[in-house]
Amino acid sequence: MSQNKTSHALEIDAIPAFDDNYIWLLHRGGKHAAVVDPGDADPVLQALSDRGLELRTILITHHHWDHAGGVPDLLRHYQARVYGPDDERLGDWNQACHEGDRVSLPELDLHFEVLDVPAHTRSHIAFHGHGLLFSGDTLFSVGCGRFFEGTPEQMQLAMDKLRQLPAQTAVYCGHEYTESNCQFALAVEPDNTALQARYAEVKALRSGGQRTLPSTLGAELATNPFLRTREPAVVAAAQEQDQRARAGSSTMATLRAWKDRS
Ligand code: ZN
Ligand code: FE
Repeated sequence: MSQNKTSHALEIDAIPAFDDNYIWLLHRGGKHAAVVDPGDADPVLQALSDRGLELRTILITHHHWDHAGGVPDLLRHYQARVYGPDDERLGDWNQACHEGDRVSLPELDLHFEVLDVPAHTRSHIAFHGHGLLFSGDTLFSVGCGRFFEGTPEQMQLAMDKLRQLPAQTAVYCGHEYTESNCQFALAVEPDNTALQARYAEVKALRSGGQRTLPSTLGAELATNPFLRTREPAVVAAAQEQDQRARAGSSTMATLRAWKDRS
């Protein structure tokens, strides 16, 4: 009798890589697996062999080496499909995805919708489905990625897109930056009690060597200044840095410049 792949709950493991990256490993009781943003192949190969898994699918949020650098090596070991943004800086192994595309992982019975969320890079995408969001370096817990190839207006649009997702959506981002992000967020909103509580929780997790992810979109809406650029307290804090700041993208620009120099 064939194994019913949906009879097992989806498991999502964090594979730490480099100083503070997370590579997300998805599996469901069978032998097939997918990974998100494998910047390094070695820890992925180790995690797969530890669990007796075969890699079938690789999802890439953006072209940066710490998210995509492990792909060629992984493809030497496994025949996997690779879905990433439409960007010639990725190899010819990449199947380019665009806003609204549906990416299917049949072995895991998963289907993700692609969201265009540029600003960190010009072609950054996110994957959403099954109550999960893989946000790469666009949305971090209590922060967002630097605007290397995009504008504050683009990041504002990206945040406005992500904030439409259900509040219970689990947010899996690319880096463990939450503790330092909380410190900046508290400089913006010292009186935000949800943020104070998140910082206490994050400090306890980090001092125990534990990760702070996944977050939830609801928690991010309450604590992440880059999702809160229309909140009066956040706009007022931005105006203390730059009096031209107004609700929306100019507050986004001011917050990002402030964080980049802090
Ligand atoms: Zn990046
Ligand atoms: Fe990164």
